[in-house]
Amino acid sequence: MNLMEYQGKELFRRAGIPVPRGYHAAAPARAAELATPDVPEWVVKAQVLMGGRGKAGKVKFAKSPDDVASVAEEIMATPMPPNRQNPKGERVNSVLVEEKLSIAKEAYCAIAIDRTTKRPVIMVSRFGGMDIEEVSEKHPESIAKFFVDTAIGYSPFIGRELAFQAELDPGYRKAFPAIVGGIYELFFRYGAKLIEINPLALTSDGRVFASDAKVELDDDALYKNPEFKEWQETLPLDEDEALAAQAGLGTRNFRRFDGNVGTIANGAGLAMATMDAVRNAGGNFANFLDVGGGANAERVRNCYELVVNHTGAKVMFINIFGGITRCDEVAKGIVEALNTTKSRKVPLVIRLTGTNEEQGRKILADAKMTPVETMDEGAARAVELAA
Ligand code: GDP
Ligand code: MN
Repeated sequence: MNLMEYQGKELFRRAGIPVPRGYHAAAPARAAELATPDVPEWVVKAQVLMGGRGKAGKVKFAKSPDDVASVAEEIMATPMPPNRQNPKGERVNSVLVEEKLSIAKEAYCAIAIDRTTKRPVIMVSRFGGMDIEEVSEKHPESIAKFFVDTAIGYSPFIGRELAFQAELDPGYRKAFPAIVGGIYELFFRYGAKLIEINPLALTSDGRVFASDAKVELDDDALYKNPEFKEWQETLPLDEDEALAAQAGLGTRNFRRFDGNVGTIANGAGLAMATMDAVRNAGGNFANFLDVGGGANAERVRNCYELVVNHTGAKVMFINIFGGITRCDEVAKGIVEALNTTKSRKVPLVIRLTGTNEEQGRKILADAKMTPVETMDEGAARAVELAA
């Protein structure tokens, strides 16, 4: 789960990482209402999950509460334009309004998991700001890294060392070790995959603030912090995620692609293997779909309808491995689902193997559906039928 900037900054506050004074507002009028006259200038920032807001004109300054309202209006009027990170763009549903900082320097600071060393890696660069991707491509040596031994943990000397190696402006020195300590603490407390501050701003009067916040939480660790459930509900779903949720699937269980072989499998691994098999057979898959645990008629019907109604599938390849889910149950589900669906019919190719396979095949045979023997055979048949 990726957090919006305002949510990330809420976590920063909890860890004592300095963030600018500010508030979150879902409507321009509300943004203006909360703007207190003691602040000479504000910055109004689109709250979206995409990055690159600055370059897209979605971070703007305002000098009065009226100005805050009109700038917020302008930012919310159009979606974030597509970029490399999100080719569909993203609607702007709210803004974060903050006291504008007088920024003298912009640094970069992040913590993530390094898969090679299997350790958290802290990364620091003196070239923070909107061109950090370019920095990591063209001057990777300018990024200082420290791979943390989690048995020992973080100590302030690590932050001092990193600031020195990255040649951060001396103005950062005093505040920096505690800020890195803050992100290290949050990383573990909330089970994050990435915490990034870009820019970490040094103001002209010598203060250091996290001016932006990017936090990615590990979905498998969400159960440890039930409070995130509420946040999750406020986050936007993309089209595929919304379709999956409507069909009663998890938001990650369905993805559309542009081929014509529809796929349904149980387990994300088998679902991906099924797509590979289609590709190996010279075809193109229309989707990824993991039916998840259980496969009763309603669930199979929902999945079938989801694929035929929302992708370019000309054929459906159903690939089930019966483990805890028994093949006879799945077969019953498939037969019932196809007898009751009102959606368009496409040819079916079914591979069913595992627990209670014999009974499952019999049920399919009785319904005049013949399963194939192997995944590759099924893929080849499906590709042929789609051609
Ligand atoms: P991003 O482009 O989506 O990463 O959004 P950021 O939050 O990083 O904002 C983009 C840029 O806007 C930053 O790199 C800053 O240069 C600028 N910016 C944001 N807030 C302030 C502020 O309070 N004062 C000044 N002077 N610039 C700001
Ligand atoms: Mn940023």
